[in-house]
Amino acid sequence: MPEKVVIALGGNAILQPGQEGSFENQLENVRISTEIISRIIKNGHQVIITHGNGPQVGNILRQNEEAKHVVPPFPLDVCSAESQGFIGYMLDQSLKNSLHKLKLDKQVVSLLTQTEVSKNDQAFQNPTKPIGLFYSEEEAKQLADEKGWDVKEDAGRGWRRVVASPKPQSIIGSETIKMLVDTGAIVIASGGGGIPVIRDEQGAIIGVEAVIDKDSSAFKLAEEVNADMLMILTDVPNAYIHYGKPEQKKLEKLSLAEAKNYVEEGHFSAGSMEPKMRSAIAFAEKGGKAVICSLDQADLAIEGKAGTMIIK
Ligand code: ADP
Ligand code: MG
Repeated sequence: MPEKVVIALGGNAILQPGQEGSFENQLENVRISTEIISRIIKNGHQVIITHGNGPQVGNILRQNEEAKHVVPPFPLDVCSAESQGFIGYMLDQSLKNSLHKLKLDKQVVSLLTQTEVSKNDQAFQNPTKPIGLFYSEEEAKQLADEKGWDVKEDAGRGWRRVVASPKPQSIIGSETIKMLVDTGAIVIASGGGGIPVIRDEQGAIIGVEAVIDKDSSAFKLAEEVNADMLMILTDVPNAYIHYGKPEQKKLEKLSLAEAKNYVEEGHFSAGSMEPKMRSAIAFAEKGGKAVICSLDQADLAIEGKAGTMIIK
């Protein structure tokens, strides 16, 4: 039986820091990523792909804001769907082409996925995730009045809208994703964490203006499709303790207890490495293998020869 692996692609795999967010740049990065993923598939692994969308949804929000006098702006959940759609398109097409080059006859499908969150999630009481454009204090407060946004000053750079980042409760449609994977198809799903939705009293789902951390939803996806491995690909080869300090040390094989201990000690930054470590720990806790590594070492890491691996 091939190993079932959920691969979570970091922002870097789609757009490098400092690069202009043109379609061509993004497609070229995606091409490099899918070549690496297609080698993993060639080695016999069943792959489910998920990805981030921070810069992409940021640009879509900007387009909406800049053009709001011409075309009515769309809510955040719709912008999230748009970003998931176009990133899914790039990954899907690019992976099909990479597999074709390797003469691998595989189905690839990209699914627009919604992720359920709880309407009682504490995050809705205290939105902390900055998104979209920077504004002056005056503009920001005016937008807050007009649109009911929450706005905050962002690290001395200006004022921004802040939204909740609630915890994913379930990936809607994961049963179908699992069935597709079992037919041998490669599924791209819950990009950007998935479009956040809540359930009302009648059980109907409704989009909410929030963002879901892609590392957290990658864990949910891996859990719900019964994956053997959760692989989080980012722009560093390992998680480190004392990161950025002279005594920095890379982490290779970790027990659950060691990993939890390092998280408690605060070695991983909130919003970047910490959610990866927490998702890896949660997955290992369920009995799976979790690895955090760089994109270019993905094929080594899958064999336990690179990256930071957590096993129960
Ligand atoms: P992604 O798009 O892959 O989610 P992030 O920027 O969110 O990327 O997370 C990766 C970043 O986490 C690295 O570039 C690194 O700067 C940062 N980081 C913070 N703490 C650590 C740590 N302890 N070990 C390794 N990287 C860390
Ligand atoms: Mg991140």
